[in-house]
Amino acid sequence: MKRVYLSLGTNAGDREALLARALERLAAAGLRLLRVSSVYETEPLDRRDQPWFLNLVVEAETDLFPRMLLMRLQRIEFELGRRRLTPKGPRTMDIDILLYGDAVIRLPELTVPHPRMTERRFVLEPLAELVPELRYPLDGRPIRELLEATRGQKLRRCDLRLPVPL
Ligand code: AMP
Repeated sequence: MKRVYLSLGTNAGDREALLARALERLAAAGLRLLRVSSVYETEPLDRRDQPWFLNLVVEAETDLFPRMLLMRLQRIEFELGRRRLTPKGPRTMDIDILLYGDAVIRLPELTVPHPRMTERRFVLEPLAELVPELRYPLDGRPIRELLEATRGQKLRRCDLRLPVPL
């Protein structure tokens, strides 16, 4: 069993319902969900002319190998309506693998730890909520320090708890 951390994000459609459905599908796809962070509403970073996102981080255990996990996640994205129309544009569901145990993976289709997680407050804030003592595996920087550097990115914690399908 590996301990994994996934980032979920959505900014199109019924965002709250999409997150709830994604959690159900993760639980049915070979992941044992352990904890789910609060939901955060976050400002889009790359293209500003799109709705704000809802984001959260999931802590789970799985026996799936990394590529199989990625394929399952991509299938869930697709089933929840994701079509890659505009690069960096609105999406119904985006699921990224942040950490896969302490593995360092560099495949053409998969980089873990996720290469952009250190600069995204919408990832760091929910991740720090679950694992405040975390250090970024590649250089040992504490997550608190990484968070400090992303303070300029707008975000608010939602008063909303999603049921964790066990
Ligand atoms: P995006 O359109 O931002 O969801 O990017 C999806 C692409 O990123 C896919 O083609 C994946 O193969 C690739 N990718 C690389 N590393 C990761 C990762 N750690 N988690 C999810 N997707 C990844």
